[in-house]
Amino acid sequence: MVESDAVPKIVARDERRTPQTSGDAVIDEVVASGRDVMRKARVTPADVGAAGCSAPGPLDHMTGVVSQTQNIVGFTNMPIAARVGDGLGVKVFLDRDTCMAAIAESLIGAAKGAKDFVYITVSTGVGGAIVTRGRLVRGASNTAGELGHWPVNFQLDASRDAGDDIPRCKCGSFGCVEAFAAGANLAEQFGAQRAGDVYDAAARGDTRARALVTRAERALANLAVGITNALNPSLIVVGGSITEHQPAHVLDPMRAAIAQRAFRAPAAAVRVVPAALGADVGMHGAVLEARERASGRGDWFL
Ligand SMILES: [Zn+2]
Repeated sequence: MVESDAVPKIVARDERRTPQTSGDAVIDEVVASGRDVMRKARVTPADVGAAGCSAPGPLDHMTGVVSQTQNIVGFTNMPIAARVGDGLGVKVFLDRDTCMAAIAESLIGAAKGAKDFVYITVSTGVGGAIVTRGRLVRGASNTAGELGHWPVNFQLDASRDAGDDIPRCKCGSFGCVEAFAAGANLAEQFGAQRAGDVYDAAARGDTRARALVTRAERALANLAVGITNALNPSLIVVGGSITEHQPAHVLDPMRAAIAQRAFRAPAAAVRVVPAALGADVGMHGAVLEARERASGRGDWFL
């Protein structure tokens, strides 16, 4: 058994596209991928102590059920841990992707040693997880920390259609950080394939792209001020592909807004830092969480 603070060594990997047809097809693909990766690593299910499975939420990490997610077809009340576990013949522990990322950043990444920190990912979507006094905040039904759906703007008239000024979020609400700052939303609002195209256009001086980028920055800035005032963390660890590629459009506006507008005491206590684990954070988190739970540790995040 590797110590909990050791960086897991990736010995094999298999990546596949998420099927768009049904939840069953997604489960089948995950199981097939897990079998392939065990074959590549020359291990059998009997050799595997546990498997970690990361999924978008909201989900319940204790029952292993995803209650709903707008980004994967058919994932409504889907018992992923049981289904994937049956398929692989291995005990599977499910958790939200951002919780697993926060666990990994806490054990081996940018939040090592921090007792009060918030993890945020700005990527295809926006998500998060909250650790306070050394415990991951789970909430009353295990869905806490969905920071991407923190509203940072509101409709003056809720009965009218949400226009471009306040886009409706795919969760059904409006004014969510995700609706302004997520890569998928930025690309869609600009009519581009990738969020990177929007940032490139903004850098070239395209007026519409600049307006969208500025709006995304303001949404993230508001989120940062809200988090600082409400939760008083010592660190806000920000990961995700947009943060990685566009730090000046993510980290800088968050830092500036905290300095300008948050309460003085929590503003002085917090640092906004980039995540340390990059694109493999979910995989590291899944392995670390499975390892901790299988060995009866991990009380702090359960
Ligand atoms: Zn939302």
